[in-house]
Amino acid sequence: MTQSISFIGLGAMGYRMASHLPKAFSDVRVWNRTTEKAQKHAQEFGTHAVSLENAVQADIIFSCLPTSQDVEKLVASVHIKSGAIWVDCTSGVPESARNLAPILLEKGVQYLDAPVSGQTIGAENATLTFMVGGQKTAFDRALPAMQTMGKLIKHVGDSGAGFAVKAVNNMLLAIHLCAACEGASTLKSHGVNLQEAFDCINASSGQSGVTSSVLPNRVFNRSFPSTFALSLLAKDTGIALDLVRESKLSAPIIAASQSLVQAASHLSEDGSDFSTLAKMYESMNKLTIE
Ligand code: NDP
Repeated sequence: MTQSISFIGLGAMGYRMASHLPKAFSDVRVWNRTTEKAQKHAQEFGTHAVSLENAVQADIIFSCLPTSQDVEKLVASVHIKSGAIWVDCTSGVPESARNLAPILLEKGVQYLDAPVSGQTIGAENATLTFMVGGQKTAFDRALPAMQTMGKLIKHVGDSGAGFAVKAVNNMLLAIHLCAACEGASTLKSHGVNLQEAFDCINASSGQSGVTSSVLPNRVFNRSFPSTFALSLLAKDTGIALDLVRESKLSAPIIAASQSLVQAASHLSEDGSDFSTLAKMYESMNKLTIE
């Protein structure tokens, strides 16, 4: 029986995700490196802002930090309750999950790699997709908690499988983004109205989430809202490229896209949204994608 739930890492995703837990559970604890955010969360949603030591004494512990390295450091610094399940919603490294799971299991803790997709709006509306790797028994126990935050919740395999699916998903996003920026730049240079061009493309076979949402809602209107950092996308494409290299596959589009995303991330200001990758194409081609 799950009595208590914790959420560690109240960033753009975690703050919104954890807001749904009190609807189904009475003992919901939150911890954030910057304490004020946890206190604000407690006031806003009726959660309890607690110390890290207290957070890791819950039956189910969620984390959503930038990288696997951040999670590994945190896990190494605490004594987690035996019998707990650690559900890591970070978009992390498969190898890290494969290492962490047996280390934690020796301490009586089951670890699930459970990254999410659906962006901050999905976190706010509890419509996220969870792609989960790890023991099925742990998945079944954590499912009701994940259901408060997500719509599609899939057990995709053993430890590391969830992180692998997420990395490939975000690599596809990056490829679509680079391709759509190149297509839009080409049309712009030929004097075509981009809004009208993309109305046609979005009713045709070139359509994708990037052409129907990212470009029109973030780039054409110059809003570039900061919801998902370009540096985090670069981290994800790097994980995907490492997976390709580990299997010694040929994947030239993945390699090229990783270089482009990495370059755009280096050129951008800290915290810039992933859609600002378009600005790299703008400066390369001396035009604006609007
Ligand atoms: P944010 O940068 O908004 O938040 C990061 C959170 O982690 C903050 O709460 C921050 O605390 C905390 N944190 C950072 N470093 C450490 C550390 N070393 N130790 C403890 N806490 C730390 O990130 P997001 O919420 O955007 O992303 C979190 C994860 O979710 C990433 O892996 C990302 O790739 C993934 N993701 C993001 C999506 C999005 O649309 N934003 C969509 C799907 C997945 P503090 O407040 O103190 O800075």
